[in-house]
Amino acid sequence: MNIPSSPQSLGPERHQRTGNRGNIIYPVVSRRARGLSLGINLFPDRKQCTYDCPYCEVLPFSAPDSRIEPGMVEAELRAFFAQDWKMYFGRFELKDISISGNGEPTLSSFLGEALEAARVVLREMAAAEPGFARVPIVLITNSTGFLRPEVCEMLERFSRRARLEVWAKLDGGSPATHRILSDSHFEYGRVVDAIADFSARVPVKLQTMVCRDGRDGRILFDEKGYLATLQTLARRGARIVAVQLYTVARPPAEPWPASLDDAQMRAFAESVRASVLPEIAVEWFGRTGYVE
Ligand code: SF4
Repeated sequence: MNIPSSPQSLGPERHQRTGNRGNIIYPVVSRRARGLSLGINLFPDRKQCTYDCPYCEVLPFSAPDSRIEPGMVEAELRAFFAQDWKMYFGRFELKDISISGNGEPTLSSFLGEALEAARVVLREMAAAEPGFARVPIVLITNSTGFLRPEVCEMLERFSRRARLEVWAKLDGGSPATHRILSDSHFEYGRVVDAIADFSARVPVKLQTMVCRDGRDGRILFDEKGYLATLQTLARRGARIVAVQLYTVARPPAEPWPASLDDAQMRAFAESVRASVLPEIAVEWFGRTGYVE
């Protein structure tokens, strides 16, 4: 296993997947988790998503021999902690178990099972090592699952039983920019409404891509619209615990999305920080590292 030596200076090459024990469980040193994150990939055979973001880091692939079946997530989690964890223990703190992988996890019929498997295995690990009791289970979603009541209900139920964090994508800041960045038919206003409704029940952390069209240089982030959206969410009682702005850091699906430089990212983050309540953490991640 190629394990990076330090989680402190994480550039694009430092948050690649580092594990090879399977296509379902993969340890990564993650900039956004600020340490070791144990990923659960619910789509080992091919990418499945409701969006087709041009900056997507999941490149099209097909692995027809890979599969996910009932019981597999829990078995793989147990195998990781029994066999591989010793290679990380003492060098990395486990920051979270995150469910994301090759697509949109709310599309998977295995989502509920994966959440429960993570809860059970963490609880068992905590019996021997109390620090595990603090490890959250993170669902990284593009927010379109919030349009489905059964998904919202399942997540709300689970949030009462476990330490669940929901990291929800909201790109663009306006319908036109959202359309470019999602390359989908999902309307910006509907997604914002869904985030407002869901986050009134379960708090969310917003994740927003800020990038440039390398063909003409324009920035694909409507700052004014985004700030207005944050105000709308606040008025509607949304519980937004943090906002993360990030830019392109790995080879994107299309050749044209380009990263912003740190000064631009900092300026956008400061603008967001000035417009939200002080208890909402605003973080930004540049092309080569993270900055508070
Ligand atoms: S939502 Fe995520 S996985 Fe889906 S296309 Fe966009 S970046 Fe890729």
